[in-house]
Amino acid sequence: MPDGPVSCTGCRGGALTRLPMVLTDGTEVVFVSCHSCERREWFQPAVHGWEQIPIDSVLRRSTKYR
Ligand SMILES: [Zn+2]
Repeated sequence: MPDGPVSCTGCRGGALTRLPMVLTDGTEVVFVSCHSCERREWFQPAVHGWEQIPIDSVLRRSTKYR
């Protein structure tokens, strides 16, 4: 699995923190935090790179079994 997008979708900056995670349903995602604009995004691997996923979707799935 690649380590995530190389640039921020907001400011196109490359200073990102990328944190691979696995949701409780087994979905592999990457949490991306931009150092420049403080944007926070979640991505999952897709056919053509990385697909952005809504944060409420992540929260719903990651809290499913609590
Ligand atoms: Zn940014």
